[in-house]
Amino acid sequence: MPELAEVAYYCRQWQGGVGLEVERIQTHPAARIYREIPAAAIRRGLAGRTFLGGRTHGKRMLFEFSGGAWLGLHLGMTGKLCTAPPDHIPAKHEHLVLSLATLSLVFSDSRMFGKLSLDLVDTGDPPTWWTELPPQPLDRRFTKSLVHSFARRFPKTPLKTLLLDQRAFPGIGNWMADEICWQLRLTPSAPVATATGPQLDGVWKTTRRVSRVAMDVIGTDWGDLPNTWLMNHRWRDGGTCPRRGCRTELVRADLRGRTTCWCPRCQTSDRGRNNDRARDERSTQIRAMSADSPRS
Ligand SMILES: [Zn+2]
Repeated sequence: MPELAEVAYYCRQWQGGVGLEVERIQTHPAARIYREIPAAAIRRGLAGRTFLGGRTHGKRMLFEFSGGAWLGLHLGMTGKLCTAPPDHIPAKHEHLVLSLATLSLVFSDSRMFGKLSLDLVDTGDPPTWWTELPPQPLDRRFTKSLVHSFARRFPKTPLKTLLLDQRAFPGIGNWMADEICWQLRLTPSAPVATATGPQLDGVWKTTRRVSRVAMDVIGTDWGDLPNTWLMNHRWRDGGTCPRRGCRTELVRADLRGRTTCWCPRCQTSDRGRNNDRARDERSTQIRAMSADSPRS
């Protein structure tokens, strides 16, 4: 399923159409992507308008057309955007084709979990459902305290499941959530309540870092993520933990309906507590040693 950066990548694919008028619209009206708005309404709403550009928010996209028409688009599981020649005839899974003077904007979706919406707003601003979306990981309003307060609301939720919650982590999907847990050395299935304050700070920081690199690498031209990340090893049978000095075989299992991958050696739910305990023991030893030492 396309996540933050993949969605940004697909959005860019339509950029070549900016400034051009929609001359022809072809749809597959029975396709499930039209379950919230009929294909005829999309055709009526966009005909003759000029394409002004697209933007993304998490896994959502919004495309602006002249006269205050806003096409909302969610790629679902298998949705993709691309361009084709202006006289393009839609293939089987290409359920929306907007033909402009020099190219066509194509939305294809084989499994049709994707969906569309159309808002006609003459205020010059995007529709309110868009402006009211929660801050994205790279937004300045995505703060440590936001992560802490959201985590406090769901103490029993597994950490990974929390990371997949689009109300607080828009754009974070399966691979990113696994990556964040792995980089933090936290067990994906551990209840949020077991995470210490510093670990939640780490969730905030690592969510931002993983998002930034993903946007730079995938969001631009779908490049390869660093081989030192979990991502490149998680789907391979017999794949091993890329962390230097570990190389333990990775584990894959279902966690609340999502295939989850982790390193059984690096990621332990009591790691933070062990560290705390080790630190406590060390300071006790230091205190004992100083108590033993002769006073000067
Ligand atoms: Zn490992």
